[in-house]
Amino acid sequence: MSNEMYYVQASDPAILEKGECGGAVTALFKYLLDKGIVDGVLALKKGVDVYGAIPTFVTSSEDLLSTAGSLHCAPTMWGGIIKEYLQDAKIAVPVKPCDMRAIVELAKRAQINLDNVYMIGLNCGGTVPPKTAMEMIKLFYEVDPKDVVKEEIDKGKFIIVMKDGSHKEVKMHDLEDNGYGRRVNCQRCDEKIPRKADIAAGNWGVIGEDAGKYTFMEVCTEKGKQLLESAEKDGYIKTKAPNPKGLEIRAKVESSMLKMGEDYKNKWLEEKYPTIEEWNRQWNKCIKCYGCRDVCPVCFCRECALTADYVDTGSIPPDPIMFQGVRMSHMAFSCVNCGQCEDVCPMEIPVARIFHKIQEKTRKELGYRPGVDDEAPPALGGSCPTQ
Ligand code: FAD
Ligand code: SF4
Repeated sequence: MSNEMYYVQASDPAILEKGECGGAVTALFKYLLDKGIVDGVLALKKGVDVYGAIPTFVTSSEDLLSTAGSLHCAPTMWGGIIKEYLQDAKIAVPVKPCDMRAIVELAKRAQINLDNVYMIGLNCGGTVPPKTAMEMIKLFYEVDPKDVVKEEIDKGKFIIVMKDGSHKEVKMHDLEDNGYGRRVNCQRCDEKIPRKADIAAGNWGVIGEDAGKYTFMEVCTEKGKQLLESAEKDGYIKTKAPNPKGLEIRAKVESSMLKMGEDYKNKWLEEKYPTIEEWNRQWNKCIKCYGCRDVCPVCFCRECALTADYVDTGSIPPDPIMFQGVRMSHMAFSCVNCGQCEDVCPMEIPVARIFHKIQEKTRKELGYRPGVDDEAPPALGGSCPTQ
């Protein structure tokens, strides 16, 4: 049976005004908090400028307004935070597809209890690293990045709004062909609508006079359906049927984004994939800071194999077969292509590429997609410990 879809709008005018589209995501969070269904909402607050985002655990709906709106320069991940600090809390969280995938994988490994979590998905065309965003704004838009008060990604363009209200836009393709634009792992992402979340929200498909005033919501679970129905009954949101043309457009945009993702996969994992010699040069730079392991949202072993005597012989750089090889054996069944390992590597080693590539290989051979497929990873014997 296909998922139900709606245009949804927050009833609260302040949320509607501040929300990215119809403010529906924030309105649902408000409902969950006001009714005491969740202990808190894990969301993002804008930092000192549009390039920074602060993860925030909101426990009172009065504080929710500061978290409304989309931040495209915030490649944050929620899985690790929930696993470390909120395992026993009842929470709601807005999830990009890679967030969703990490949370689902952690649930399979009994690190997160999905019964405690409302996942409200955000469709995602990709994130831009803050430093790259500032550099490209100087270079391509020829303005001071500090004067930008809002950014958005729409119709294949990165758009900035300046202090004086003026807009400037550049095509994503032009930025990416020159080494700017979205993070490379977002470029090769193959999950754009997070359908493992309870509801998937976005702007794709909202057209005409409704554009910018409604959030498009696809209801993906029974829990999501009940949430939407009760929030509407209690006056937190208004819903209406989507424009049929909008439905068509949304399906077309999704499929063209997925096609683009496949093209980029081919570019980064095949055509421009480093040679063995290049990998050897890269591994020689490794200072064994463990940053790539620590930031990985899916890494959870209580006793890490990387610190076992037979792996950690004390040498720097570490033996790549042991060090990166052990990580690779875990990543083959787990990598959700969030790109965090590459983001944090102080030596700028393109680690995410090797992990994503090995995951793709495993997927081709065993058909398993972490965070998208229901069954547990083949390494756990295919049976899910949480089921
Ligand atoms: P709001 O009520 O404004 O609530 C948005 C929620 O998202 C808030 O809780 C906020 O804290 C949280 N949030 C903001 N930034 C992030 C982030 N980086 N990571 C995690 N949570 C965040 N929709 C599409 O249809 N197509 C797209 O290509 C697309 N790309 C997106 C890319 C990014 C990086 C993000 C964050 C969102 C994207 N969206 C996309 C979703 C869209 O921008 C809106 O977030 C969605 O329609 C919900 O609108 P709303 O008014 O109901 O949300
Ligand atoms: Fe090595 Fe980079 Fe990982 Fe640090 S983050 S251990 S330098 S690969």
